[in-house]
Amino acid sequence: MARYLEANCRLCRREGKKLFLKGDRCYTDKCSVERRGYPPGQHGQNKTKVSNYGLQLREKQKVKRIYGLLEKQFKLTYLKADRMKGIVGENMLSLLERRLDNVVFRLGFANSRKQARQLVVHRHFLVNGRSVNIPSYTVKPNDVITVSEKSKENPVIKEALEAVARRVIPTWLELDRDNMRGVVKALPIRAEIEYPIQEHLIVELYSK
Ligand code: SF4
Repeated sequence: MARYLEANCRLCRREGKKLFLKGDRCYTDKCSVERRGYPPGQHGQNKTKVSNYGLQLREKQKVKRIYGLLEKQFKLTYLKADRMKGIVGENMLSLLERRLDNVVFRLGFANSRKQARQLVVHRHFLVNGRSVNIPSYTVKPNDVITVSEKSKENPVIKEALEAVARRVIPTWLELDRDNMRGVVKALPIRAEIEYPIQEHLIVELYSK
């Protein structure tokens, strides 16, 4: 499986925004966007005019990077959203939010989506009592996500749960911290996805 292996902070600097890819470090003054808030590379500090296409491309790259996907996976998600009823951009964001790795992160079992993805791949979670190791697995209402019995003492999960008070758990999810259990109460709605995303730019880009 292909993975992005370079420095995550470069991605944030390229987008000019904090994408919160590294967990706790993102909330400290060590954050690279705070310290060097310009794009990486030799020409990073040059001023350039951005075209319409450039705006659409940057928006797509930003969302792709927030959810930790590569181009092919992201495009497949868009195509799936396009086949669904409703507004394509909102369908796409809903599908991204419902990925199991994102849900594990949103419930506070991991400090970042990248960490959540690794925990899922290593079979630390059950969905409705069955082990699932597919980060792209799409959860649905009433699904129950639990930490597997053998992983309840996992220090990474325990540490993340200790810090959960600092996080806002979206209303479509419910966490039972003591039992290391989360429930998908409903489908996520656009208003609950708080990132500053202009999904219409991505739809315009892919509709060309
Ligand atoms: Fe992005 Fe976090 Fe790195 Fe800051 S610390 S640049 S938010 S990944």
